[in-house]
Amino acid sequence: MQHTTAFQRITSQLSQRPDPDRCRRSPFTIAIVGAGFSGTLLAFHLSRLCGPLPVRLVLIERASRFAQGAAYSTRCPLHLLNVPAGRMSALPEAAGHFVNWLAQEGLDADPDSFQPRQVYGRYLRSLFDQSTEHFAGLEHLRGEVTAVLPNPDGTAAIVELADGSSLTADRVVLALGNLSPAQPLAGHWDFYQSPRYARDPWSETLFSGLDPQAPVLLVGSGLTMVDKVLELEEAGHRGAIFVLSRRGLMPLAHRFPRGRARLPALLPATADGWCRLLRQLARESADWQHVVDGIRPLTEQIWSAFSLQEQHRFLRHLRPYWEVHRHRIAPEVARQIEQVRTSGRLQALAGRLLAFYERADGVEVVFRPRGSGERQSLKVERVVNCTGPESRIERIAEPLIRRLHAQGLIRANQTGLGLDVTAGGALIDHSGTASRLLFTIGPLRKGCLWETTAVPELRGQAAVLARQLLEPVLANLTAAGGQGQNS
Ligand SMILES: Cc1cc2nc3c(=O)[nH]c(=O)nc-3n(C[C@H](O)[C@H](O)[C@H](O)COP(=O)(O)OP(=O)(O)OC[C@H]3O[C@@H](n4cnc5c(N)ncnc54)[C@H](O)[C@@H]3O)c2cc1C
Repeated sequence: MQHTTAFQRITSQLSQRPDPDRCRRSPFTIAIVGAGFSGTLLAFHLSRLCGPLPVRLVLIERASRFAQGAAYSTRCPLHLLNVPAGRMSALPEAAGHFVNWLAQEGLDADPDSFQPRQVYGRYLRSLFDQSTEHFAGLEHLRGEVTAVLPNPDGTAAIVELADGSSLTADRVVLALGNLSPAQPLAGHWDFYQSPRYARDPWSETLFSGLDPQAPVLLVGSGLTMVDKVLELEEAGHRGAIFVLSRRGLMPLAHRFPRGRARLPALLPATADGWCRLLRQLARESADWQHVVDGIRPLTEQIWSAFSLQEQHRFLRHLRPYWEVHRHRIAPEVARQIEQVRTSGRLQALAGRLLAFYERADGVEVVFRPRGSGERQSLKVERVVNCTGPESRIERIAEPLIRRLHAQGLIRANQTGLGLDVTAGGALIDHSGTASRLLFTIGPLRKGCLWETTAVPELRGQAAVLARQLLEPVLANLTAAGGQGQNS
């Protein structure tokens, strides 16, 4: 609170006082790499705070559209948010912001509704447009960042883009979102080059040229799989859809009325302890969903109370069960998936993938059904990798991440999930030193926070990081003001 007051005091003094030096000073440059939800919201908060400050903001995005990201750039109207509208405000201080925007746009503003993700993309775009209006120092740069090269004393860095251009920044924030999935099986490099295989499930040309009667295999049975089934439906696909995953667990649907179970004051610090508590709460509660929703606001606290050993134990034994209960889908989406399933066109298989063999007339996929010693095979025309984002650094193909890792500027989190960061999102280098220059927001913080991919967490991170990034600017201005008064 004290900090807020100081911040407001300085910025309001600056806006009232003409600053003759402002044009001559080189501005403090903040480069944000990635303009999906996190990058857009960070730019939004910065643009609101920066008004009178000598700051240059550069938002860099490699995709054709800003303020969309993987989730909200979808062209499929069947893709719905998996969180009710009432919880999707982009602003932590205004819980009803998204619902109010829906009402202003003349759309269904029921807080329990599950809005199309395209609509949410429009909402983000409106915030993006407001940022540009708020702050003339905000620039948008289209291109892929391939390297960040800090100067020797680590006070600034050159940000290089794939087209050979570059800029110098005093702070660089990686808002890269979820990274592409790893290959589903080691080896098979020839098959992975085939047009019959799609590593990137978000590619716009994923199903182009596909015979509507052709069988398709989706590897993985989480939210990405749900999206792909809906896309096939939307495109009028009539062929078989096979879904293969280790356990055959499918996402569950949200149920109403919502509620939150009360948790005991003293929470367990082990994965086993949590297992016992969850079973007990599920027995006592009207609905297990209330138990999961009761835990949700505390996940970061629970995760950080686990020892590294307990975090690994959770990841090994409980993660798949937690994921299906936590990442639920809209009831109408669940009904559509169920319809495709009962029509016999969607078959969910539990088993271990063993091999792909590409033949002239399709792909033979060999797998071992769960609990069986037998091998079975399927013949499909297209295989789509729906295994979910990769967060193990050593398996990430992203050129920027690989380069930063090779430079020793980042290191993997000990859990194996994402990067090592401080509580404020500063990246930690290979020697354990927190960077003053490089920050991240969003899914790359997963190992430290566990829950860091959805809007309810990201909106808070963006607001906090914006203030933190401006601290050196405020400190300089305060020092300069003090000197001015003394002289
Ligand atoms: C399909 C899907 C549906 C989802 N639905 C919901 C939902 O309903 N509710 C919810 O709360 N959350 C949902 N999520 C979670 C989602 O991750 C967040 O809501 C949010 O979109 C993540 O924002 P982000 O900015 O971290 O990542 P993204 O929005 O993916 O943005 C990252 C951006 O960085 C860009 N980029 C990456 N590397 C570079 C580079 N080197 N140079 C330049 N640009 C780069 C990418 O092009 C991308 O635009 C969903 C996620 C997905 C994938």
